[in-house]
Amino acid sequence: MSTDDAFPQPLGGNTMPRFGGPATMMRLPPTDGRLDVAFVGVPLDIGTSNRPGSRFGPRQIRAESCLLRPYNMATRAAPFESLVVGDAGDVALNTFNLAASIDIITDHYRSMLQNVGVPLSIGGDHTITYPIARALAERHGPLGMVHVDAHADVSRTMFGERITHGSWLRHAIDDGYVDPRRTVQIGLRGTGYAADDFDWMAGLGARVVPAEECWHHSLTPLMHEVRAKLGGGATYLSFDIDGLDPSVAPGTGTPEIGGLTAIQGLEIIRGLRGVSLVGADVVEVSPAYDASGNTALVAANLLFEILCVVPGVAYRTA
Ligand code: MN
Ligand code: MN
Repeated sequence: MSTDDAFPQPLGGNTMPRFGGPATMMRLPPTDGRLDVAFVGVPLDIGTSNRPGSRFGPRQIRAESCLLRPYNMATRAAPFESLVVGDAGDVALNTFNLAASIDIITDHYRSMLQNVGVPLSIGGDHTITYPIARALAERHGPLGMVHVDAHADVSRTMFGERITHGSWLRHAIDDGYVDPRRTVQIGLRGTGYAADDFDWMAGLGARVVPAEECWHHSLTPLMHEVRAKLGGGATYLSFDIDGLDPSVAPGTGTPEIGGLTAIQGLEIIRGLRGVSLVGADVVEVSPAYDASGNTALVAANLLFEILCVVPGVAYRTA
């Protein structure tokens, strides 16, 4: 088998124009075979409380990913030289039944994890992180969590539903899939219901970093602290696109002003190099509110940057 066969490459822009070719993530081969890293679409948006539409996120993010080239000029990461990466398609969820879809997603990941090392998931609304974390915790034990978001996502219920995009993290912790002492929330802000909306997590030992603490600062120093808190254990990154400011990422369901910059998003992800990342997602991109396509473009780039910090990535200096 040649190296090219062993390590599938994104289709290059000199082989097929960037606006042509397969509509997979980075125009990678579609596959359900053995992969070190799989991009997976989870087109669920029935757990959304305000604007819907993130069901179209995976397709739009894949479309905008056609511009991504395989080498990271800033960090020198060359993920396709040492990892077998592919696009594993979408989860066939039931768009008429949220609770059933949550179980469908978990079962899909349980099965996929027989063949896939690290799933990088493309949302979909934030509900999807609960069933993904459940499947990953069954394999790796309780997960450390880096949660980038404008919102704490720790409501008890929403209209009586237990697992939704605003309550997934509380239940992932209560059900033992996420370790709050190895959890960091970054970017929280906006209006709330009560003064203690953001305090529940801190009370369990999590580090809560409100957006105001990030304003005007590089987040690279914060990430030193984050890596120390995460330690060597299995860790998940969940990146809600609304953690970024609406000027950067307007195409989302519950936007809040005063958010993170795109640069700070990169600093968070690049700061996870060396962490035992076992999975990640980028969620809440809603293309109907994304007239320029910029939100999906940002999300595609964030997913590539996450790929560049997966354990086992090669770095090339020349
Ligand atoms: Mn969220
Ligand atoms: Mn949010």
